[in-house]
Amino acid sequence: MSDLEAFRAEAREWLEANCPASMRTPMKGEADFCWGGRNFIFQSDDQKLWLERMGAKGWTVPTWPAEYGGGGLSKDEGKVLADEMRRIKARVPLVSFGIWMLGPALLKFGTHEQKLEHLPKIARGEIRWCQGYSEPNAGSDLASLATKAEDKGDHYIVNGQKIWTSYADKADWIFCLIRTDTTVKHEGISFVLFDMQTPGVSTKPIKLISGSSPFCETFFDDVKVLKENLVGEENKGWTIAKYLLTHERSNIGDMGVPTPLSMLAKQKLGDKDGQLPDSMLRHQIAEHEIDAASFMFTLERAKDAAKAGGDQGAFSSVLKGYGTELNKERHELIVKVNGSDAFEWEGQFSNNGEVARSWLRTKGNSIEGGTTEVQLNIIAKRILGLPS
Ligand SMILES: Cc1cc2nc3c(=O)[nH]c(=O)nc-3n(C[C@H](O)[C@H](O)[C@H](O)COP(=O)(O)OP(=O)(O)OC[C@H]3O[C@@H](n4cnc5c(N)ncnc54)[C@H](O)[C@@H]3O)c2cc1C
Repeated sequence: MSDLEAFRAEAREWLEANCPASMRTPMKGEADFCWGGRNFIFQSDDQKLWLERMGAKGWTVPTWPAEYGGGGLSKDEGKVLADEMRRIKARVPLVSFGIWMLGPALLKFGTHEQKLEHLPKIARGEIRWCQGYSEPNAGSDLASLATKAEDKGDHYIVNGQKIWTSYADKADWIFCLIRTDTTVKHEGISFVLFDMQTPGVSTKPIKLISGSSPFCETFFDDVKVLKENLVGEENKGWTIAKYLLTHERSNIGDMGVPTPLSMLAKQKLGDKDGQLPDSMLRHQIAEHEIDAASFMFTLERAKDAAKAGGDQGAFSSVLKGYGTELNKERHELIVKVNGSDAFEWEGQFSNNGEVARSWLRTKGNSIEGGTTEVQLNIIAKRILGLPS
């Protein structure tokens, strides 16, 4: 038996023994996500147990080094573990900006001490992170950010405002871009980390069209940030910010493997043989599913290429741009399949308006992490080599 096959057998046995039955059922929506953190209220004992078991084994972040709380697995072992989790329909034990975004940036740019301090807490789901990038006048043109840091020797005093900070009111720590030099644009930005309980930090939720408040305005009034929490060098934060964005974009583009649309449509509209009588809808769903399958193969190929050679770089804009447009199309079709039921907003029948709220939520997919127009600009310049 090859080493990889031996690992498969070991992973299969461990997952069978340790993944609770209720964690092998599909998640119905965001309410089922486990975000971890100091204040997270677990939905069930099983959800907590599943996080604890996976966190202790380092399998929330299977390929991170064991020394920093990861599983220490090779890329191929990581793929085998993902296969085996899919086989038993195991839920992702932890959904985390720490895993998707900050972790990769710290692994590349952090000091050994910073990695030891923060990565294991991310892996175990003990600390929940939010992202302090956008400001009222700095979204697509992020480098215009104005949140200002005054140098006070061993610390900075930070003043300013962020906006659209997802889950800022629920997060424990923030990774944040601040301006440490006002005389230059990109070269005056630094990347810092601080606790959201630091005096002077406050948040104000903003309501989305879907009815929930997943993000906030975030204010900093004389916030003290120790220089030991500066990642990389002062004024060199833009490089880290861009690297982190490639991870954010690849992750936003990768919507996982959702229930096939054809199955949802058959359940709702199928005749007694499970056929869809509406030929137009059949055609649209088939076309979408072919596109979704092709995109999934492209994602796999991109992940393999990144594992072999390093970063996704500008290709993350292809994944982000196409993946999010595809997800929006999927939800348009789900609305179509559900007909007028899709517009029920509350009540048990619709699981509290799950279809309508999810459809509305997808509108933000092509904005968050950089808009589709901005991704197209990046593709044009950095992949196709077109002039500005
Ligand atoms: C659901 C959601 C969650 C988010 N979470 C976070 C978060 O956690 N942390 C965080 O920091 N930010 C977050 N954001 C903010 C997000 O990153 C910004 O909204 C995004 O970068 C766009 O910036 P903006 O909103 O200022 O729009 P603008 O930059 O003002 O853009 C307005 C319009 O102009 C277009 N445009 C702008 N520049 C160009 C150009 N050069 N060429 C062509 N078109 C252009 C854009 O495509 C867009 O259509 C989130 C946003 C959403 C919707």
